[in-house]
Amino acid sequence: MDCIFCKIIEGTIPSKKVFENERILAFHDIQPQAPVHTLIIPKKHIPTMNDVTGEDDAVMAEIFAVARQIAKEQGVAESGYRLVNNCNSDGGQVVYHLHFHLLGGEKLKPLG
Ligand code: AMP
Ligand code: ZN
Repeated sequence: MDCIFCKIIEGTIPSKKVFENERILAFHDIQPQAPVHTLIIPKKHIPTMNDVTGEDDAVMAEIFAVARQIAKEQGVAESGYRLVNNCNSDGGQVVYHLHFHLLGGEKLKPLG
């Protein structure tokens, strides 16, 4: 499987991990767009948000719980942060393995 995030999960591509369990991995984005920029991914290869099914309910809920925990640990829970998923071409998705960006540590630009 030619998926960069699957290779990070396997350990064949290195990453700076901030959280890992059997189902989820979180690591620093290689090109941070904010002082805190963490990617949170399921270990299951799900290409996009459109491919999430009811079978993934538990891991999706766990991803949100991990995001809350990481936000606290990285000191941005109170100051605030943004949790972003880019889906497909118009959404700006580049890596086709489901991931959530956790961004914070500065005043982020308004989306609109
Ligand atoms: P997206 O545009 O939502 O698909 O975002 C993909 C993200 O993956 C970008 O923010 C990249 O900087 C990040 N990225 C790509 N390769 C790596 C890598 N080897 N380690 C960490 N982050 C990466
Ligand atoms: Zn993958």
